[in-house]
Amino acid sequence: MAHGALSNPYKGKGVITIVICFFLVLDCTALGINFFITQQVEDDALAINIAGRQRMLSQRMTKVLLLMSDDQMSSVSYKKELEYVYKLFLSTLVVFEEGGDAVGGLGDSKKFPGLSDPIALQFVSETRGLIDKLGLHIEKLLENPEDQVAFNSALEISKNSNLKMLGLMNALTFRIEQMAAEKTTSLRWVQAFAFVLALLNFAIIVRLYNKRSEETEMLMQSFIHLVNSAAACLIVFNEKGEVQFANAMSLEKFGYSKKGFLTLTESQLFRVENDETFAITATGEAIKIELLKRSFVLNGKKFLITTINDISHHMKVQEHLSYLASHDLLTGIGNRRGLLDRLELEVARAERYEGKLGVFFIDLDKFKPVNDLFGHGVGDMLLKKFSNRLKNAVRKSDFVARYGGDEFVVLMIDVKDDEAFESCRKAIGDVFQRPFDWEGEEIFLDCSVGVSTYPADSKDSYDLLLLADQRMYESKKNKRKVSSVSS
Ligand code: GH3
Ligand code: MG
Repeated sequence: MAHGALSNPYKGKGVITIVICFFLVLDCTALGINFFITQQVEDDALAINIAGRQRMLSQRMTKVLLLMSDDQMSSVSYKKELEYVYKLFLSTLVVFEEGGDAVGGLGDSKKFPGLSDPIALQFVSETRGLIDKLGLHIEKLLENPEDQVAFNSALEISKNSNLKMLGLMNALTFRIEQMAAEKTTSLRWVQAFAFVLALLNFAIIVRLYNKRSEETEMLMQSFIHLVNSAAACLIVFNEKGEVQFANAMSLEKFGYSKKGFLTLTESQLFRVENDETFAITATGEAIKIELLKRSFVLNGKKFLITTINDISHHMKVQEHLSYLASHDLLTGIGNRRGLLDRLELEVARAERYEGKLGVFFIDLDKFKPVNDLFGHGVGDMLLKKFSNRLKNAVRKSDFVARYGGDEFVVLMIDVKDDEAFESCRKAIGDVFQRPFDWEGEEIFLDCSVGVSTYPADSKDSYDLLLLADQRMYESKKNKRKVSSVSS
């Protein structure tokens, strides 16, 4: 697993925020420039428009003065026209110089900020000089339409300065057009530059975002890989007890598909009986488990993570160990440990129910020579066959154990009367009536038996065993005596 997969996925967060802010600033700048250009173009268009109108007004002034010289100088309509044209020319000139409301191309009133370019202002100032000279006489004429001197002077100046005024207005128009073109071009360049930077930023954002998504995805994959590699079953439930996640081990143990698992609830998966918890598999099998629960909160929601330990295997091992501790490996019947435990238990039970029990201590006679003659393997086989016969000879409820070597003990349990002891002894003796078979060879065995009974002989389990052993030994000794006498 790459180390990077476990690195912090949020380390690029600050950089991304900065880049996004930068992108927004650039984008707003580009938009602002667009708005500014539109505004500028509008102002410049208005300036061009009013400069054009000034040309027209200066011509109209000259024309009225010429008409006045041909016709009636004092005509009211000429005076009105001259007054209107002259005043409009003056007010427009002020708008150029200082800014203010100007009448647009469509006759509507628009705010004009005034000219700031020194060259353009120079044209306006020259025009101002000309119109002030002419205005002196026009104003006298407007005051007194009969003032021939003022009229003649106005006509003379108008004729002389008309062309110059037209030239100045043309130059002003050209200058404004030129400035507008320059301004727009440079602003367009800035705008294009801002756009390029914004796009570059956008590309960086996308790159960083993709990198972060990749890192988050890798982290998620690593986490799922880890959880799925866990040897324990891990299941996450929501508050309603519905499965939200189950790792690979859980799917394997319960035998459900991933999709099927996500439709299950806690109560369908676990059952508690007598303080023991069971996992219920897809096949309905109940497995003994240990369940550990921990709750946690994620994104404001409460979840429960459960760890499941399958203790059924552990229990089997435990059972096997206790079997080994209490059973004889060769014959499969109880061993000394098993016998002592059982004897103690049965003595206590007999005491409580006032019952009787018998301890039969058996030792095979001259088993060593059999071993020597046929080999240890045959000896083992004979021990097994004998223990089987012994088990079948006594009641099912009686307990048969190999005490050690060629020594066996039968516990006769729940005895009603003493005669039963005798019949048990006889049954043990009968086991040796038939020979044991080995590869067609008949092997005869015999044994010595010592018996002690509860409560007649003792009420203590250890004493009972000791007594039975001693009595067996006595019996063997007597047998030897008899056989030595007879031989
Ligand atoms: P006795 O008549 O006095 O009982 O003598 P014995 O020959 O039976 O010998 P003893 O009881 O003193 O000793 C038990 C013998 O049983 C010793 C050994 O040869 C044999 N023996 C003990 N354990 C095993 C075993 O696990 N397998 C085999 N094949 N033989 C065993
Ligand atoms: Mg023996």
